[in-house]
Parts: sequence; C-alpha cells; structure tokens
Amino acid sequence: MDAPAQKKSKLIKGTTGDWEVVIGMEVHAQVTARAKLFSGASTEFGGEPNSHVSLVDAAMPGMLPVINEECVRQAVRTGLGLNARINLKSVFDRKNYFYPDLPQGYQISQYKSPIVGEGEVVVDMTDGETVHVGIERLHLEQDAGKSLHDQHASMSLVDLNRSGVALMEIVSKPDLRSAEEAKAFLSKLRAILRYLGTCDGDMEKGHLRADVNVSVRRPGEPFGTRCEIKNLNSIRFIGQAIEHEARRQIDIIEGGGAIEQETRLFDPDNGETRSMRTKEEAHDYRYFPDPDLLPLEVAPSLVANLRETLPELPDAKKARFMRDYGLSAYDVDLLVTERETANYFEAVIAGHGKARDAKLAANWVNNGLAGRLNREGRDIAATPIAAAQLGAILDLIADGTISGRIAKDVFEIVWSEGGDPRAIVEQRGMKQVTDVSAIEKLVEEIVADNPDKLADAKTNPKAIGWFVGQVMKASGGKASPQTVNELLRKRIGI
Ligand code: ADP
Ligand code: MG
Repeated sequence: MDAPAQKKSKLIKGTTGDWEVVIGMEVHAQVTARAKLFSGASTEFGGEPNSHVSLVDAAMPGMLPVINEECVRQAVRTGLGLNARINLKSVFDRKNYFYPDLPQGYQISQYKSPIVGEGEVVVDMTDGETVHVGIERLHLEQDAGKSLHDQHASMSLVDLNRSGVALMEIVSKPDLRSAEEAKAFLSKLRAILRYLGTCDGDMEKGHLRADVNVSVRRPGEPFGTRCEIKNLNSIRFIGQAIEHEARRQIDIIEGGGAIEQETRLFDPDNGETRSMRTKEEAHDYRYFPDPDLLPLEVAPSLVANLRETLPELPDAKKARFMRDYGLSAYDVDLLVTERETANYFEAVIAGHGKARDAKLAANWVNNGLAGRLNREGRDIAATPIAAAQLGAILDLIADGTISGRIAKDVFEIVWSEGGDPRAIVEQRGMKQVTDVSAIEKLVEEIVADNPDKLADAKTNPKAIGWFVGQVMKASGGKASPQTVNELLRKRIGI
C-alpha cells in the first residue's frame, strides 16, 4: 500500500471538500493500590455503599491527608513505561468546586507541577502505519464519590467508597487523526498499564475512562476549536463519539457556522453527543497548592530502582517475538496485547528440550484458543487448557500422530474433560491412519463410485479437492491428508 493513499483514507469527506479530524485524550486510570491516595481506606470494588470511607475521605474537620507512597511508585512506574520525564519534585493543588459527591469541596490534584512530564506512546496500526502519540503529562489526583439518583423516590444518595481513590490523569498531545487511531491509542495505553500492573484497565468498572477532545480542520490548516466529550468508558464508544462529533462539527462549519468550545456528553443509545456546558459556563477552579501537603519529592535512587525492575513492555516483547520466533507483526500484535497471552504462548513453545513450531503455536493461541475463550467470555487466565496440554497437542500434530483436523477434536475433549492429549488419542483411537493399504481401499471405492467426477478431475486438477474431502470423510477424519492426496493423484493420474 502506498503512503499517500493511506493518508487520504483518514480524511472525512464534506460537501465542500476534505476535512481532517484532530484528537487529544485525557485518560483517567485508577491506580492499582490497596489503599487510597491520602488515606488508608480500602479501594476494593463493589463494597457496601460507604463501607470504605475513612475520616479523611469523608472530609471530617481537622483530618490531614498523608500521601500513599505506593501510589507515587505506581505513577513513576507508569511514567517510565510511557518513556516520559519523571519530575523529582511535584506539587499537589486544590481544585475547588462544589458537588455533593465531593465532601472536601475541592479535589486534590496536580496542576502546574505534575509528577510526570512529556513522554510518548508508539501505536502500530493494523495497516502497518506507526503513529507516535506525544504524552503531555501524567498527574495524580483523587477520585470523587458517586451520587445515586435512582435509589430513592425523593432523595439523592451518595456513596463515598470511591472518594479519595488515586487516579492518574494521562494527557495526550493532539496527535491522533482518526477514530481508529484514537481507539488503537487507548488499547495500547491500556496494554502498557496492565503490563506495568499500575491500573487494571477495567473499563466496565470505570477504572479506565477517557475524555476525548475533537476538532476538525482543512488538511494543513491550523487546529480548529475543540469540543471535549467527557467520560467515555468503552473503546467502541470512543470511536462512535469521535465519528459523530467530527461529522457534527463539519456540518456546522460547512453550513456557515462556527464551533463553540464546549464540553459534551456521548449518549450510547443513539450514538450522538450533546452539549453539557459551554466555555462561558466553565468552572474557575481557583487552583492553589494544598497547604496540608508538602511538595512531593521523589528520590533519584527510587526512580532508578523502579526503572530497573520494570517488566518487559509490549513494544520490547513484540520486537523480541518477531526477531526470535520469526512471526509476523500481525500474529505478534495479537500475542502481546495481554501479558498473560504472551506468557502462555512462550510456555506452549518451550516444550520439552526441543522448541515447538512458533508459527503453529501462534495460530493455535490466536485462533483456536482465543476463539474458544471468546465464545465463553473467559480470559486467558481462566483457560481450561494449560500451555503444556496445548503443547502436547502440537507435538501430536508435529510427529504425524494426528492431523490438524483431529487436533481440533482433541482440543475440544481436553477443553471440556481435561487430561493428557496423547493418552486421549491413544484410548479413543484418534490416531491418524497412515496405513497406505487402508487408505488405498477407500480411494478405490470412492473413485469407482464417481466416474463423472473422475473424468472432471483428470482435466481439472482443482476437482481433486472433492475426492480428498470424500476420502477424509470416509476415514472419519483419521486418514493422513498428505497420504490421501498422494494416493489420489497416483490413482487419477495427475
Ligand atoms: P486545557 O489546558 O484547556 O485543558 P490542554 O491544552 O491541556 O487544554 O488540552 C487538553 C486536551 O485537549 C489534550 O489532550 C490536548 O491534546 C487536546 N487538544 C488541545 N487542542 C486540541 C485541538 N485543537 N483539537 C483536539 N484536541 C485538542
Ligand atoms: Mg488540561
């Protein structure tokens, strides 16, 4: 594919010409830590309302916040994973606003001096293009509680379990140019966070959510006015919201109007965005340094130590898998998205002494196993087939004991009943028939019964496929496809 053709496909057609969409994201990632950012209360999901609330989280008078060092380490680890500058000194500010789920009357956040500065995420698109997305900053802040409006006929209730939970806000530069790129960026960011173990990336639980800034412009022109779509909690919704929002803005501009900077909400029911507040109604948060907290200082030795103990991240793993196992970028992208999948794959090919065929293993992990897991809505951690069992199935294929076709049946049996694949094949008579005379007999019968097809196959070599299928079927799938092919070709005379 040539580069200009790819570029062009990202543009959106209007009635007056092409438009380019420009996107920047502000991602809120809940820090994986047992306790909250400034209190010892539990961060566990799904507790009884208001059961994980300390006096600090409830903002009782006189309570003082104390920084949770684990949250600081997690933010630094994340910064390192985003190839970003770590700021050894940062400041916590109060962001003042009133809301019933915010008992302090302010959120402790970081404004001018975040803990992490500029970085970069590299996003590989499925068409082979590589997009470099700048990271503007990462800062730590508190989550708010939750107002519940549907629990009581005349009152709103509040649950403060989430109040004070640590969030990382990760802000991208406006480097994304399509809904596809935005979705791929968030998937990649999510993969990095999950590898690092700094955020579980669970979007359904709201542990990862994104505000998406969207503007449109004529290619090559300066950036247009942006609208911010708040609080998207699924990758699919991000794509839908961007596509709808870009189209809405193009229609306004082409109709002679102008975009007003505003905050919008996405409605998943109709796939549209609607206005929440305009710039005029925007809050003035009156940020100021929190007098209860000293500036946060991180020792260079801590940063060095965290850097040394980072796990292998998706980019490095991808490069290694491509280099060491000779796999395609496509196969490897599927394998490295989840660390558990990559580990599983490596355990499958490790084998006993002799390494197994990486390409065959990748196909089984990415197709057979992933497909089966998907159908049951399980993730790889809950696979009933251990890597060693899948490896044993691959060995049976490799040494000719079973065909790829029978391997699927063995896979199903191991999936539902467990057991040793080799013993299963032995006990249930699933071994491939390589006995030439037995297969020859089947070939003879089928050829004799189908003179028309035989005539056809003599002139049209492709028609041999029909015979192969019939013989395989007659053997109950146990004939060696290779032997069947050879014998048929000999018999038909091609
Ligand atoms: P503010 O300080 O007003 O919040 P920022 O400069 O921090 O604005 O940007 C917030 C987000 O908006 C960032 O993710 C940034 O990439 C994105 N952004 C900025 N300008 C544009 C634009 N013209 N179009 C789309 N996104 C933009
Ligand atoms: Mg901002």
